[in-house]
Amino acid sequence: MQLGIRWRKLVCRNHGRASEITYQQRFVNDVSHELRTPLTIIRGYVDILERYGVEDPELFKEAVTSIKTSAQNMQSLVENLLFFARADQDNQPLIKVPVDLDELLKNFVEAYGSPRVHVTKLAPCKILADAEFLKRMFTAFLENALQYSPPDKPVTIELTTSDDAATLKFIDRGIGIAKEDCEKIFDRFYRSDKARTKLENDKNSVGLGLSIAKWIADRHDIKISVDSTLGKGSIFALKIPII
Ligand code: ADP
Repeated sequence: MQLGIRWRKLVCRNHGRASEITYQQRFVNDVSHELRTPLTIIRGYVDILERYGVEDPELFKEAVTSIKTSAQNMQSLVENLLFFARADQDNQPLIKVPVDLDELLKNFVEAYGSPRVHVTKLAPCKILADAEFLKRMFTAFLENALQYSPPDKPVTIELTTSDDAATLKFIDRGIGIAKEDCEKIFDRFYRSDKARTKLENDKNSVGLGLSIAKWIADRHDIKISVDSTLGKGSIFALKIPII
């Protein structure tokens, strides 16, 4: 039974952004909208279990899996919101120390453990950074590169250096991003229509990963550029000051 899929399709995904609504109203709107989907799924499965009992093992398994995933999605949403709550109140302290970026990246990719990820260039360089925040930023770019490209396509990471900066690239051969979306993808809760369709049934996507990554990049004077072609893939390039 594919009840989860049916319910997800029932949930209205139209944000209806009127230009005069305030930032706060929109934020509350977006959060409520994102919470409604997992809550609808949980509510629906609980109703079904109540009505049909737990005798059907297939249905029981589907219900438990969907309830668990929905709870995880809500948890990750709440954690991201707490990040912004602290960031907006200047209560998100960074502890910057000299870091070997190549070492950090190498360890990060090893720990991430995806066979699809290939590091093709790894120039040694030192930067001033909070390593934990940097890893969080890498995760956002890498997860997107993997999720927005077919499972048989590799994702390439390159770290090169020039006189005063390192350039770190996340390169995928995925769905790509339309020109008009490139400016908006770093906004909180922004997701392209293509991404919504692709991930409707398989990923918790709320459009917060890149806004968190941008917040971290700004705190490290890192400039992000996006070069993308629809249907071909994307390159997210980070220009990082070296010491
Ligand atoms: P999420 O992935 O949770 O939707 P993000 O903030 O990480 O949120 O990304 C915002 C949007 O940017 C995505 O919904 C997608 O439309 C687009 N995007 C980001 N990275 C990529 C990528 N590598 N390929 C295609 N689209 C991407």
